Amino acid sequence: MHLSLTEEQALIQSTARRFAQSELAANANLLDRHEGREAFLRNLKSLANLGFMGLNVKTEYGGSEVGVVAFSVAVTELSRACASTAVTLSVSNMVAEIIQAVGSDSQKDTYLPKICGGDYAAAGFCLTESGAGSDPAAMSTTAVREGEDWILNGSKIFVTSAEYAGIFVVWAVTDANAAKQGISCFLVEAGNSGISIGKPENKMGQVGSSTNSIHFENCRVSATALLGREGQGFKLAVGELAGGRIGIASLALGVGLAAMDYAREYLGEREQFGQKIGNFQGLQWMVADRYTELEAARLLTMKAAFEKEQGLAFSTAASMAKLFSSEKANDACYSAIQILGGAGYTKDLPLERMARDVRVTTIYEGTSEIQRVIISRDLLREVN
Ligand SMILES: Cc1cc2nc3c(=O)[nH]c(=O)nc-3n(C[C@H](O)[C@H](O)[C@H](O)COP(=O)(O)OP(=O)(O)OC[C@H]3O[C@@H](n4cnc5c(N)ncnc54)[C@H](O)[C@@H]3O)c2cc1C
Repeated sequence: MHLSLTEEQALIQSTARRFAQSELAANANLLDRHEGREAFLRNLKSLANLGFMGLNVKTEYGGSEVGVVAFSVAVTELSRACASTAVTLSVSNMVAEIIQAVGSDSQKDTYLPKICGGDYAAAGFCLTESGAGSDPAAMSTTAVREGEDWILNGSKIFVTSAEYAGIFVVWAVTDANAAKQGISCFLVEAGNSGISIGKPENKMGQVGSSTNSIHFENCRVSATALLGREGQGFKLAVGELAGGRIGIASLALGVGLAAMDYAREYLGEREQFGQKIGNFQGLQWMVADRYTELEAARLLTMKAAFEKEQGLAFSTAASMAKLFSSEKANDACYSAIQILGGAGYTKDLPLERMARDVRVTTIYEGTSEIQRVIISRDLLREVN
């Protein structure tokens, strides 16, 4: 394992950094105030043009095929400027990877170029339901076979990008008697009849990324919409969420670093007691601890990305990365506000937004508690 980036990965990183600072940073505060949607969608299209919507998707399907480490560093750079854009991109990449992993040739040929090329602004992942959050196997959305078609009924909640996604992967029960083996996965186009999108959640952070419920009422899709094999949907969700966690670990890291970088500058500017506040050891140690934790988060995230890229088992590493990075990034945002004092608490500066934006990273794509369940289960399985 190499601890430095390859030339190609470094290029992706610098491209993402430049784009984030020139295009995303200025819009992040507007998005937080429910403005700037047009620029947000324009930026998603530009990111697709840069090849960022299919970073780990083969070039034959319109992806850029630069791998998981490159995906991770790209998401970190984008989230330094705008977590809402970064999460949209992360989820869209995850959906593209699902289609690449188990889609039929026709599904891959039809949908991957549209996601990777930006014909679709985003792609959506419809797993969570009101009665099935941490326990997705408890879902009640159904898909019933009728002739050559499937009929979907039920509701999903908290779907990232639901308002502007062009395609959704949707999990539904196809055999109520088969428990987890009775869950299947479908590809449903946004324009399909029988779909309605609920109003956006009024969230604490990541306001620019819409999060809505989606309702399926006699939503008819053809037999070819089945993604992967019937009854394999749960396994697919578990596997793909592990990959998604690398995205969220990377995202959290970017926000944490941005907050601490901001605070570090301030330490060299603000004076109290006749000197720079950076002279106070209490604050110096805060800087040392937070950057050490963020560097550890980065290494865990890189390890998980590297393992996935090499085709190794990476689920435990991905959960460790997501758990640690999201929690330490929250600490970093909290410390950054503390370093700025009252100024950090105001909406005139970006830190309070970052603290709100990063909060959800310990919740979505599996809460911290669920990551601990996965990690301990994997570790104990090794000895039992
Ligand atoms: C902004 C946002 C975007 C999202 N985007 C998507 C998306 O695009 N697609 C999608 O499908 N979902 C999405 N989600 C849903 C998200 O993945 C769930 O919210 C998350 O998995 C937790 O489920 P829940 O909210 O139902 O919490 P619950 O499962 O009800 O959990 C409540 C509490 O119980 C704890 N808990 C549950 N089970 C255990 C256990 N076994 N051991 C210990 N503690 C436990 C949890 O950690 C939590 O603290 C999104 C959520 C948010 C907030």
